[in-house]
Amino acid sequence: MGLIVVDSEENILLWNDWVAKSSGIPEDQALHKKITEAFKESPTPAFLSALRNSLSYGLPAVLSNALHRSPLALYAADADQEKQRIHQSIAITVLAQADGKRCCLIQISDSSNSIKREKMLRSHSEILKRDATTDSLTGIYNRRFFDEHYKMALGVSIRQKLPLSVFMVDIDFFKEYNDYYGHPQGDKALISVAQTLKAQLARATDVLARYGGEEFILILPNMPQDHALPFAERLRAAIWDASIPHLKSKIASQLSISIGVSTYDQINHGDVKSLVQSADSALYEAKQQGRNRVAFFAPAADHPQKN
Ligand code: GH3
Ligand code: MG
Ligand code: MG
Repeated sequence: MGLIVVDSEENILLWNDWVAKSSGIPEDQALHKKITEAFKESPTPAFLSALRNSLSYGLPAVLSNALHRSPLALYAADADQEKQRIHQSIAITVLAQADGKRCCLIQISDSSNSIKREKMLRSHSEILKRDATTDSLTGIYNRRFFDEHYKMALGVSIRQKLPLSVFMVDIDFFKEYNDYYGHPQGDKALISVAQTLKAQLARATDVLARYGGEEFILILPNMPQDHALPFAERLRAAIWDASIPHLKSKIASQLSISIGVSTYDQINHGDVKSLVQSADSALYEAKQQGRNRVAFFAPAADHPQKN
């Protein structure tokens, strides 16, 4: 910490090593000089008026780093190229001298580190926020984000009387893929499936998330049933066209996906509560029917659709 003592005439009585080093002015050159003349550049007016107030009225003062970055010409010791001024926190304490005059102790601490720490903490909290909604492997949204977003999107659809489609996507025979190609290669395949699916989204309100291990979910507001099936078919074809080799698939020699689709539509009386479950049932159907295909959730006979 830097320590300077000045007398009532602002002459320097003490100039410690830290101040000598940081200012580049050795002690013998600084002692008995006025504080306004001791540094390479004069202290800021804010510093001088705080010091003069303390000397006149005997009250302590603090110059907060937030308002006054670098009141004194002090430089970081390790700055090789351009000398950077140290960010300072300064406390001025009034000392009484034997002759009844006042002198002031000026304590200077380097707040650069605390500023750096603060910046680091801020960027950490941004990373944490992002992590809370992002899947770390694929970079798309995670299940947690989807669950929140789903509630909101459904609310909007109901209020605005617009349809809403949900697509549950599952990679076919992915266990076999992992067993044969290894887990790291499996991870790579998951990343490219995520990217390929994402490339099919056009609107800012369309959301793709990783729902589980090799399952993805998409939610598209304002997409009616008659558009949802062709869209799902496009997703399926995009993965197929990516031609990712899968020699252990039981239905082809390349990677494929199955998709279950479900649409909430006030006109068709889509079931709000079970939109995700309906998409999941449709996915099960697609698997049953042979995989690498799309199935739409058809409500049971006792729950007829109105057209
Ligand atoms: P189906 O066609 O019926 O969907 O068969 P499947 O083999 O894809 O289904 P199953 O649910 O039996 O296997 C899913 C496999 O996905 C299990 C696991 O090996 C793999 N998997 C799940 N999460 C990850 C992951 O994060 N990374 C990798 N590499 N593999 C994963
Ligand atoms: Mg699965
Ligand atoms: Mg699977």
